[in-house]
Amino acid sequence: MTVALLPGATIGVLGGGQLGRMMAVAARQMGYRIIVLDPSPRCPTAQVADGVVVGTLDDVEAARHLARQVDVITLDTEHVPATVLDALEPIAPVRPGAAVLRTIQDRLVQKQFLDRIGLPQATWAQVDDAAGLPAALAKVGRPAILKVRRAGYDGKGQVRIEDQGEGDRAAFDRDGDAEAGLARLRGEPAVAESLIGFRREVSVILARGLDGAIQIYPIAENVHRRHILHTTRAPAPMPEARRKRAEAIAVSVAEALGHVGVMAVEMFELPDGNLLVNEIAPRTHNSGHYTYGACATSQFEQHIRAVCGVPLGDPRALTGAVMVNLIGDLWNHGAPGWQNVLARPEARLHLYGKDAPAPGRKMGHVVLLDDDTDRALGTAEALIATLAARS
Ligand code: ADP
Ligand code: MG
Repeated sequence: MTVALLPGATIGVLGGGQLGRMMAVAARQMGYRIIVLDPSPRCPTAQVADGVVVGTLDDVEAARHLARQVDVITLDTEHVPATVLDALEPIAPVRPGAAVLRTIQDRLVQKQFLDRIGLPQATWAQVDDAAGLPAALAKVGRPAILKVRRAGYDGKGQVRIEDQGEGDRAAFDRDGDAEAGLARLRGEPAVAESLIGFRREVSVILARGLDGAIQIYPIAENVHRRHILHTTRAPAPMPEARRKRAEAIAVSVAEALGHVGVMAVEMFELPDGNLLVNEIAPRTHNSGHYTYGACATSQFEQHIRAVCGVPLGDPRALTGAVMVNLIGDLWNHGAPGWQNVLARPEARLHLYGKDAPAPGRKMGHVVLLDDDTDRALGTAEALIATLAARS
């Protein structure tokens, strides 16, 4: 029988990005202590944590040093080597554990897992090297996307393979030639996927507790730009039967993994209404940022509750919401004009405390609380245009 960790207990977080930061704020609000492992003592999470252990995420000794000071360990990123988690599990419980991470952090293993539990996904093929490309493309067709098996995020480690003879479209899609595309991935083992002509992207965020209880958030509708999340609208307008189908897919992923904590399942909604799983994130998720402010329990508090083994909170939305990401490009000519955000009563500004804005880097986000989510989407675009113009 597992004992619930009550306020006063200490939570260790591997990785000190914005997810860890928002998790730490929620944890400390409830009276938990937080210690983070990160290479930088000034990382976004360390700024709001009780303690920091400085070390890279593959530094087993540093991770053990953290583990000895905490009651439970959780993650800011799924890219912590599973072997590090193996080394920590005898010292303190790791939630989600090494087995979940092993299934998720290699795209090939993740796709095999989805096939095994019978969930629909894009046609895919393993690509170990250039010699394997023709057979893989014969299976998935063109256009296709090549993704490195490990350590990709925000579209990093991905190239698009155009139809034969095409190419040179947007900057991101310059690799019309399949072999040049693979070379851009530096010959790393990859998977190829058919390019899906989706109607839209949605995600299901849920939490699974230590006792197996599940709470599901309203479905999020996501727009990506240059493969980086741009806006999320929630609740996504969706027919009841399709919503239930999306939720059932996410629940079966969480249960088959034996996941503990918050999890996101990204999906493509096809023109005919069918859903394909795009990828699984075994952690709090960018498309769940709207839950802080819009829902009775934010995804961050929910994650802390799950990993501490206390009952999950109410995920219900109290209002509609739109989240818009603030990407480093907005800083091109200096700090954006925050007064434009702060002047709007429905807008909540979140900045992550990152010192160096860089193109494509997530620096913060704004959540607009508005039951009229069409209006809020319009406001989000206007706000971003103002911030960009000011910068
Ligand atoms: P990550 O989020 O880890 O960078 P994803 O696999 O989610 O990687 O890809 C990022 C985005 O790229 C997706 O949200 C989607 O917009 C686009 N994308 C990825 N795979 C496909 C695909 N097979 N077909 C169409 N678009 C895709
Ligand atoms: Mg993704």
